[in-house]
Amino acid sequence: MRALCWNGINDLGVETVGDPRIVNPHDVILQVRMSTTCGSDLHFIDGYIPTMRKGDVIGHEFMGTVVEKGPAVKKIQVGDRVVVPSFIGCGSCWYCQHDLWSLCDNTNPKGELQEPLFGSQTAGIYGYTHAFGGYAGAHAQFVRVPHADNDCFRVPEGVTDEQALFLSDAVPTGYMGADFCDIQPGQTVAVWGCGGVGLMAQKAAFLLGAERVIGIDRFPERLKLAREKVGAETISYEEVDSVLDVLKELTGGRGPDACIDAVGMEAHGTGVGAAYDRAKQAMRLQTDRGQALRQAILACRKGGILSVVGVYGFMDAFPMGAIMNKGLTVRSAQQHGQKYLPRLLEHVVKGELDPSFLATHRFSLEDAPKGYELFKKKQDGCVRAVFLPN
Ligand SMILES: [Zn+2]
Ligand SMILES: [Zn+2]
Repeated sequence: MRALCWNGINDLGVETVGDPRIVNPHDVILQVRMSTTCGSDLHFIDGYIPTMRKGDVIGHEFMGTVVEKGPAVKKIQVGDRVVVPSFIGCGSCWYCQHDLWSLCDNTNPKGELQEPLFGSQTAGIYGYTHAFGGYAGAHAQFVRVPHADNDCFRVPEGVTDEQALFLSDAVPTGYMGADFCDIQPGQTVAVWGCGGVGLMAQKAAFLLGAERVIGIDRFPERLKLAREKVGAETISYEEVDSVLDVLKELTGGRGPDACIDAVGMEAHGTGVGAAYDRAKQAMRLQTDRGQALRQAILACRKGGILSVVGVYGFMDAFPMGAIMNKGLTVRSAQQHGQKYLPRLLEHVVKGELDPSFLATHRFSLEDAPKGYELFKKKQDGCVRAVFLPN
C-alpha cells in the first residue's frame, strides 16, 4: 500500500510499504477514507522530539471503513464506517475503566521510554514516536486498529466523513479542555490558540454553558473563523500592547474564569520571554516554548481554572508562584476520546456541532508532503490539510 513516511527531520515522503495485518484477535483493519494533519506532528517532523525512525508511517487523526476483523471483535462489523480516537485504549485496565483512556496501561509496548520524562507511561498513539508505542499511522491506504470494540465508533448516517474525521482528535481534545473548566452559567472562558483544537475548545465552551468566549491568536484568518464559525470574541496578540490588559478590560478587571491553553510547545509570542524560548529551542536545549501557558496563568482570575490541552515535554520559567498564590486549579491531559465520542456524535447529529469547517484544504495521499508544508507554514489560511488516501 501507499503511505506517508517520516524519512528524517523535515523529510516526508510517500512510499510503498507492507499492508497492515491482523496481529491480535481484537484488531480490525480500516481502509482509510480521510486523515488529517495535527500540530503535534510538527514536533517530530521538525526534530524537536526524539524516537522517530526512518520509514515510520505517520498520522493519528482518521476515519475509515472496516475491511477485515479479528475473530474476537464483536460489536464492529466489516463494512462499518467508523471514527477512531488517536490514543489507543484497551478498555479493561484501571485507567480505561475510569474513562482516562489516554492513560491506558496496556497499549504502549515501549512505555519504558517515557518513564524518565513522565514518571510513568501513557497509552499508545497511531503514527507518532516510538516512545508513544511506535504504531503505524493513518496517512496510508490502510491502518490496523487494535481493541476495535472499544476504539471504533460507528458514524451515523447523515454525518459526513469530514464531520466524523475531526472527532478523532481535534474535537475531543478541545471539548475535554472546556469540560475541565467546570463552566458555570455567566462565565467567561479565554482560549489561547485558534487552530483546530482551539476553535473546538471555544465551540465546546459555548456548548457547556459559557456566556462569553475569547479566542487569542495572531493569524487573521483563524481569528475570523473564531468570530464567524464559533461566535467568539477575539484578540490578535500581535496587535495589542498587552493581552493581559485587554482580557482584564473585557472582564471588568477580574480576568477570565477559566483559561485554556490550546497551543502548547509551538507557542510564538512577543517580548523577552518569547525571545528566550526561541533561542533555547533553536539550540535544541529540549525545553518547550511556553509563552501561551505563562500568559494563561497570569491572565486567569484568582481561584479560576487553567486547562492545558496544548502538548508539552519540558518547560522552564514556569510561574508556579502565580498558580499557588492565585489559587488556580490546573487540569490537563491528552484527550480521552473514547469518553467523549458518543456525546460528540450526538451533538453533530443534532446539528449543534459541525467541525467540517476545519478542513480548509484537501489533498490526495501522493500530495500529502505538500499538505504538511502548507499546514506547517499556515499558508493560504490553512487550518487543517485533509488527505484522501483511497
Ligand atoms: Zn492530533
Ligand atoms: Zn486500558
